[in-house]
Amino acid sequence: MKYLVLICFTGLLIFASCKNQKTTEAIPLQKVSAIAQTTSVPDSDDAADDPAIWINYDAPEESLIIGSNKQRGLHVYDLSGNEVFSNEAGKINNIDVRYGFKMADGSRIDIVAGSNRSFNSISVFKIGTDGRLQDIASGILKSELNGVYGFCLYKDLKEDKIYAFVNGKSGRVEQWHLFASSENKVDGSIVRTFKINSQPEGCVCDDEMGVLYLGEENKGIWKFEASPLGGSSGKLIADFSNKNLKPDIEGLALYYAEAGNGYLIASSQGNNTFAVFERKGANNYIGSFEVVNGNGIDGISNTDGIDVTNVGLGTQFPDGLFIAQDGFHVENGRKMNQNFKLISWKSIASHFNPPLHIDNLYQTEQVE
Ligand code: CA
Ligand code: CA
Ligand code: CA
Ligand code: CA
Repeated sequence: MKYLVLICFTGLLIFASCKNQKTTEAIPLQKVSAIAQTTSVPDSDDAADDPAIWINYDAPEESLIIGSNKQRGLHVYDLSGNEVFSNEAGKINNIDVRYGFKMADGSRIDIVAGSNRSFNSISVFKIGTDGRLQDIASGILKSELNGVYGFCLYKDLKEDKIYAFVNGKSGRVEQWHLFASSENKVDGSIVRTFKINSQPEGCVCDDEMGVLYLGEENKGIWKFEASPLGGSSGKLIADFSNKNLKPDIEGLALYYAEAGNGYLIASSQGNNTFAVFERKGANNYIGSFEVVNGNGIDGISNTDGIDVTNVGLGTQFPDGLFIAQDGFHVENGRKMNQNFKLISWKSIASHFNPPLHIDNLYQTEQVE
């Protein structure tokens, strides 16, 4: 009896410690393939960096992909991957998109903004349905960082305000409020700064939950309040005790679904995979996937930026789209310049067990 109690007690202890065990063992990867890819960027070496999806809500099949080329500017592609526009706006590293920025004349525009390393500034463009990007910044929105690096946008849906987060390799983060200037342009001012211990880059905001996720490349993923009143302390929601994560943490993206469902996705650059976390609660880790050769398109590796949308984009991507930079683009055994790969969200979702949500109608953005 004494031994039985001891065995049960030991069992309970093991069970309890397993439950509290922080280390997540490596679990099998889900393998998916791209169904389209963009034209290669015109520069060799590490050039393509961060993609962003702009949804054309009036004609979803005419939605666009904007890709940063950190050697020279931005490229805009259609959903088949054909380039429809490019500029030479400078060494833009990371980019993001928000809808319905209110201009001084009361009109609403959709903006593409990014960290511009040529001018140590934030670049802001108005995007048109034809993919043309028009610089709409009121002068040079110069950062006080010692070199801008990662970048993402946040829309406070209640206050109808758009903010930018820009970070530097030292770990400093600036939060900017972007506002309409009288000459019908976009101006900005720094409203908060804080710091993490080592180099960040990728970031993404959850507009509904008012949260900023920030990758510390050699540490993990931090969660901060996105409000400028949110203080300077964050919570580490993932680190390398999760054996499916390998430094660097690079791009982060957010998949929205109704009722707070959805996912945070991270590029785990060191093992060429993408990690999926719950969007709600404690951001529990769900699993990881990799994008392998298939459909005549090479697999994805060494990824920097990513983006995802739940919204159905016409016949090509009726169940949403995931897009990722490919660090090593190969065609017919030949090394090509880098590009971006397009993956159906359905193919990712259906490879998980249980399958991930597919919520192709939910719209979080206030479309004006
Ligand atoms: Ca790279
Ligand atoms: Ca990086
Ligand atoms: Ca990068
Ligand atoms: Ca590749």
